[in-house]
Amino acid sequence: MNFANKRHIMFIIVGIITIILPFITTNDGAHMILLSFVTREFHFLGLVFTVQELHLMPFLIMFLFIGLFALTSLFGRVWCGWVCPQTILRYIFRDLIQTKLLSLRKNVNNKQKEPDYSKISNQIKYILSYVIFFAIACGVAVNFMLYFIPYDYFFAHILDYENHKTLIFFTALFIFIIMLLVVFLKEKFCIYACPYAKVQSVLYDKHTFTAVYDTIRGGDVYKDNKQVIFSKKEWTGKEECVACNKCVRVCPTGIDIRKGLQVECIECLECVDACDSVMGSMNKESLISWNSDSQINLKKKTNIIRAKSIAYFMVITAIIGLLTINSQNKENFQLNINRTSQLYSIKETSIQNAYIFLFHNTSNKTKEYYFKTSNPDIKINRPRKPFKIKAKSKLKEIVALEMDNTLIKNEKTLKINIIAYETNNKESEVIRKTIFILPEAK
Ligand code: SF4
Ligand code: SF4
Repeated sequence: MNFANKRHIMFIIVGIITIILPFITTNDGAHMILLSFVTREFHFLGLVFTVQELHLMPFLIMFLFIGLFALTSLFGRVWCGWVCPQTILRYIFRDLIQTKLLSLRKNVNNKQKEPDYSKISNQIKYILSYVIFFAIACGVAVNFMLYFIPYDYFFAHILDYENHKTLIFFTALFIFIIMLLVVFLKEKFCIYACPYAKVQSVLYDKHTFTAVYDTIRGGDVYKDNKQVIFSKKEWTGKEECVACNKCVRVCPTGIDIRKGLQVECIECLECVDACDSVMGSMNKESLISWNSDSQINLKKKTNIIRAKSIAYFMVITAIIGLLTINSQNKENFQLNINRTSQLYSIKETSIQNAYIFLFHNTSNKTKEYYFKTSNPDIKINRPRKPFKIKAKSKLKEIVALEMDNTLIKNEKTLKINIIAYETNNKESEVIRKTIFILPEAK
């Protein structure tokens, strides 16, 4: 199977995952991944983190960045050529719609040749390609929004212009951005604007897998960055490159890989397939391959396990460890405890302290809560029974704790823990420290 087919399978897998991911929820209504601007929550793999619990975000961001750097250092810009939405959408717009569906472009193997727009038929096809892609851009923008707005909320309000102007504005803005990137900026975005391309040169070394031209077999087409060979006849030795330029014409970013590694290369490997078809017809191996410079041009084995990759592996393992530990510390609901302004109140047979408990049920179901104290001498006077809190709601509860006069000793302040829990899940404990104040001993 050539790289083009493998890439297209990858595009389908990435597309399906991206489309269905916002719709996958747990029984509690938690999403696989959602940074919700509606509920101000971050959902990750079925766990829900409120804004007060966003301590996981730095680890996740570090994981994504370092993971991408490690991937680039080992396998080059595979993200760009195989997974990046810009590449996938460019493929849909240029290769599928403009070339295969409308025959506006002659064939996918010549991406440099622009259609002849002086013909009316081509002008019509050109406009038609925009219209078709606009419909796709609308779908992509909606899908993108669903990573920030829960899908049920989004579909319930997207047509309510009067009350949800911001929602509609951002959806329209993303449609505009997608059209701008894919239809107008095209690969210029990958070459000039994408920050990832700029860091690529720092991440690569001679063992990094990338599209690489075999100068030993093919010959030096470039010298001092200038092309010196333009036709097969100009070779003086046994150089194999037939100077057909197929690898150049097929390149979406318009570079010549025979010049060596360039930041414009998005590693789509279309040039590998192109050269493979030329060399294959002569029963030879492709002069361009997905390999390392070390293996192809220095004839030294590629070192996958090298100092750089070990360092990345160690850092990523440490981040995953911290991420796992921190996500296990995640609490099932939230509880803030504040004392009222009154230090204590003296009752007939006891001393009472009053508190304000603020519960926040962060789940998608109504739940029943109650609590206990860590000190068996301190009893709950109010509330006497467990109480229910609706899904995604907060409840302020005035709490009175009391201590029998006969149990009071010399201490003026007792440190206690409040252990709150869901009544049908005793393991869902949330523990908060507070104090119980007593009058001065006489
Ligand atoms: S040189 Fe061009 S065709 Fe070859 S992998 Fe890079 S971007 Fe793709
Ligand atoms: S496709 Fe192969 S043979 Fe043709 S110009 Fe490129 S490297 Fe040379």
